[in-house]
Amino acid sequence: KTAPKELSHYTSRLNPGIGRAHKLLLDRGQGSYLYDASGKKYLDLACGIGVTNLGHCHPRLVKVVQNQAAKLWHGQLCHGVHTAMADLIEEMQTILPEQLNSLMFSSTGAEAVETALKIARSSTGRQNVVVMQGGFHGRTNACLSLTTSKYVYAQTTRPLMPGVVVAPPPYATQLHIDNDTDVEVMSKRCLAVLEDLIHQASHPSEVAMLLVEPVLGEGGYLPLPAVYLRGLRQVCDKYGILLTFDEVQTGFMRTGSFFAFNQFQVMPDILIFAKGIANGLPLAGVATRQEIANKCPVGTHGGTYAGNALACASAAEVIRVMKEEKIFDNVAERNVQFMDALKNFAREPNSPITEIRGRGLMIGIQFDAAAGFASAVVNAAVERGLVLLNTSKYEVLRLIPPLNITKEETDEALQKLFDSIRAVSK
Ligand code: PMP
Repeated sequence: KTAPKELSHYTSRLNPGIGRAHKLLLDRGQGSYLYDASGKKYLDLACGIGVTNLGHCHPRLVKVVQNQAAKLWHGQLCHGVHTAMADLIEEMQTILPEQLNSLMFSSTGAEAVETALKIARSSTGRQNVVVMQGGFHGRTNACLSLTTSKYVYAQTTRPLMPGVVVAPPPYATQLHIDNDTDVEVMSKRCLAVLEDLIHQASHPSEVAMLLVEPVLGEGGYLPLPAVYLRGLRQVCDKYGILLTFDEVQTGFMRTGSFFAFNQFQVMPDILIFAKGIANGLPLAGVATRQEIANKCPVGTHGGTYAGNALACASAAEVIRVMKEEKIFDNVAERNVQFMDALKNFAREPNSPITEIRGRGLMIGIQFDAAAGFASAVVNAAVERGLVLLNTSKYEVLRLIPPLNITKEETDEALQKLFDSIRAVSK
């Protein structure tokens, strides 16, 4: 094995259409840290876009994956079920509501979104989909049709799938509306627009599903108000539309509960999950009610790697570790630590920060600054050994730390973050 060459040697051999926030040649990861090929250490507040929720190479996950690697790597769905998947199905039952008892696994979030679309269409016999303006749902053709967070994603892949209705979500936090009455008024207005759209841009009898991220991710780390999400449930019930939560980013404890919907008592008909489920091995999936799933003709679903054995082994252990290591408590404590420190910093004179928002450890920092400010902070941070990301919309930094990040690591991250913001503000 030869020593790695310069990063550019490799990036020049990869498709130039890949968007990159950093120029890192990563070599290894341990806990909350990443190391590049030269050995430089970075505190990782991106987690591969919200994937390595238990940090890098968690010892318990390494062990189960090693054991599984010596046992069975690939157990095709067409053969039946492998024991790693059987174990995962049992564990999933402990974190999902009883009603969402039909699962389908896939390898990526985009595939899971496509699977949800197929399930919704099969179940309702309808075609159309309502999505949120600013939503992100993946990069396959159908997913790009459902995505409005950034034009460039689908710029050259048009025409997209027809029958998509884009509705305005209530951006309560961004407008600094934080009293319950105003949030309710705004949510009701957005729900009224949504109902109009369902009748005008479509017809209720044509809408199969309403697809929404409980916290818009790519679209600016905007948590949707609980009152709005509950209203979506009512609209869906009224017209027989399947309420589908894309919890690809918000799931697996990211927002402080196994799924974000656990916090606002709204039960989706279809739940999409990915990212954190296997802490970095490719696994995603859909959970729905049995009677919805039963409408899919045999042969609708499959996939060579769907429910890969190594990924399933990791995922079952992720769920056990999250419970046993009380990740829930750490998310709550670190949320307070991040929020308090960020809000204090935002109050400093001439601070470019206008809002800190988010749930759990999915935190957005909104700047009132010229275009490019947030990405300049990302660059300043990486020089200081801190990996950050911004969002596609607005000048927003997103903090997606490991859910088991320690108090001391959080202090270190905050210090580096503040240094970076100060350096760019100068
Ligand atoms: N939905 C959401 C909410 C996402 O954040 C993402 C990935 N960023 C996807 C879907 C697509 O997942 P994947 O990249 O695994 O296809």
